[in-house]
Amino acid sequence: MPTRRQVMVSVPVTATAFALADHFLLDAAPARAQQIDPLQGHFHPKGKAASKFTLDVLKRAQATLPFADTKDFEEQKKGLIAPMKDQKIMADAGHVAWDMQRFQFLDAQDGFDSIHPSLLRQSKLNNNYGLYEVSPGIYQVRGLDLSDITFVRGKTGWIVFDPLVTAEVVRAAWALFQEHVGQGLPVSAVIYSHTHGDHWGGVRGIVDEADVRSGKVPVIAPVDFMDFTVSENVYAGNAMNRRLFFQYGLLLPADPHGYVGQGLGQAVSAGATGLIAPTRYVEKPIEEFAVDGVRMIFQNTPNTEAPREMNTYIPDMKALWMAENVIASLHNIYTLRGAPVRDPLSWSKYIGEALYRFGVDAEVMFASHHWPRWGNERIQEVLRAQRDLYAHMNNQVLHLANQGVTINEIHNVYEVPKGLQEKWFCRGYHGSPQHNSRGVIQRYLGFWDCNPATLIPLSPRDSAPLYVEMMGGTEKIMTRGRQLHDEGKYLLASEIMNKLVQAQPENQAAKDLLADIFEQLGYQQENPGLRNSFLAGAYELRTGIPQGETANSSSPDVIRAMSTELFLNFLGIRMDSRKAEGLRFTMNLITPDTGETFIVELENATLTNIKGFQASKPDLTLTVNRSDLELTMMGAKTLEAQIADGTAKVQGDPGLLKQLAGTMVDFDPRFEIMPGTKAQKPELSAYVESGILGHADPYEAVPRQTIAE
Ligand SMILES: [Zn+2]
Repeated sequence: MPTRRQVMVSVPVTATAFALADHFLLDAAPARAQQIDPLQGHFHPKGKAASKFTLDVLKRAQATLPFADTKDFEEQKKGLIAPMKDQKIMADAGHVAWDMQRFQFLDAQDGFDSIHPSLLRQSKLNNNYGLYEVSPGIYQVRGLDLSDITFVRGKTGWIVFDPLVTAEVVRAAWALFQEHVGQGLPVSAVIYSHTHGDHWGGVRGIVDEADVRSGKVPVIAPVDFMDFTVSENVYAGNAMNRRLFFQYGLLLPADPHGYVGQGLGQAVSAGATGLIAPTRYVEKPIEEFAVDGVRMIFQNTPNTEAPREMNTYIPDMKALWMAENVIASLHNIYTLRGAPVRDPLSWSKYIGEALYRFGVDAEVMFASHHWPRWGNERIQEVLRAQRDLYAHMNNQVLHLANQGVTINEIHNVYEVPKGLQEKWFCRGYHGSPQHNSRGVIQRYLGFWDCNPATLIPLSPRDSAPLYVEMMGGTEKIMTRGRQLHDEGKYLLASEIMNKLVQAQPENQAAKDLLADIFEQLGYQQENPGLRNSFLAGAYELRTGIPQGETANSSSPDVIRAMSTELFLNFLGIRMDSRKAEGLRFTMNLITPDTGETFIVELENATLTNIKGFQASKPDLTLTVNRSDLELTMMGAKTLEAQIADGTAKVQGDPGLLKQLAGTMVDFDPRFEIMPGTKAQKPELSAYVESGILGHADPYEAVPRQTIAE
């Protein structure tokens, strides 16, 4: 990890020259006489220091939050057996899969002008990096990924809960564990607590698929696990991947003025993702059975933090595993990268049930992120507060909505009760009260605030020119925007500057001022997703969107987890219907190895499919084994090639498949979010070489369709 000085030195020459030229122009304009100089040592040549208004916000937080309560630090440290020695873990592909060196600056100072003290506190807590005892027989390796991996002693070996995101970091965790505790015993079972990729993606680093197939190592998961592992992320996957650049700050370097962690953990590892399908499903709401001789009671909690998730109680150890349902943070009801809004009431009720079923007896509680809680009193305190946190958010937001508060106001009206605000583990390090409260209204009432003026609004770029005209033109807006910025009224400033940028995407001075405004708003946020989104917006306004080759590899395991129906549905989304006007066909699809049949029809510029049917007079019948079709699903082999070498058989007119292929679009995650950011086209390679990027290649670092949470 280069120092900040090295990064500054290595910033691409073009960007620096651009900044200097722009600065000269700004100085020449009287309206911008108060232009603040860039901060020496900031990773970006246009980056600014925290303003006195931002410092005031951070100081107020420092003075009012319960910093005297240091219990989390005791719990986070407790049970340390050995720290991880290597700061970096390499990926098999040659790049760095994990790097804790880049987060060491967090511990070098008590406070930073540009980091909210509560977020800094959480990031310092997430700097734990090693092997810990949870209780005799239960161990965790923390800090090797966004999530934790847990080992529970079974009769013959180790039961693994939630094997991280990628195989390389799981192997490193297993090696550390074996060095100190494991006694050379093998993995005897794997449990996936839920469907998100940071809880199964590294499984191939710790278990051989042959042992799973032979029944030697059972893999246990909540019912319908495979149906939901990828389905949440396929249809809108490209948009979600792009939005991750904001929520997870993928272009931001780890730096006091950039990325400072993700709240759930420091970051997502960038190695190889895989998936081995479960061999045993927990189907009933509550199910008890022994896993490698250890009695376990599973509680299914569907539609909570994930579509399918389960808690586990180990009665003989009085140990309660709360999966990701209870962590050291308010979780997301609405996820900024985009996902169907979750159900906070059902989430709260499952926590309540866990409290009364297990929590009254438990002596230790642990989860897939953060650190454990010890002692029944503490466990009950955390469970009760978390139960109330989600229920309150549901109830009070709807209470206010029933009195006319809209989705556009709720985040300014809704407040978490004071008593919960004072509990660190209820603060917003993943979900925030602001975006979650809007999410609750979205869940129940949708996007519309019921004001007809917002019912069919003009697109921002179409309405913005009139605003600019009516506000008196560019210079007036720049002057007022600068003034509001200088007065610390950043939200008002962003409101008018956004109009100018929407109207004039090529106006770099306007984009730079809006970036300065976003940057201060970013520094002020306690929530890392909000911070990253503002700072990512500032970054792209200043620099543009890096261009270059994007990785186009999907994990074969993940493709295998995708049902044929899901794949066909997604083809309907990939099809540009404007290219399909006037085309019409009916196709029978047969996959003999899985015994599935479909009718696929193109009509009215729409591609549909229906499973379990065959048309009597199809224009085309395609017969291909699902196992062969997977190569096409991965993009490794075209359907034409499958037909040419006889792998796929066609009856009827094969030209129709060619026509269909001609309507398909490959989605590109480099689309523009802020206006005028694509035109700048900086080469991705320059940024990779400069070390300015948060990831070796952000387009590669995004695990395709295995988005962590
Ligand atoms: Zn997770």
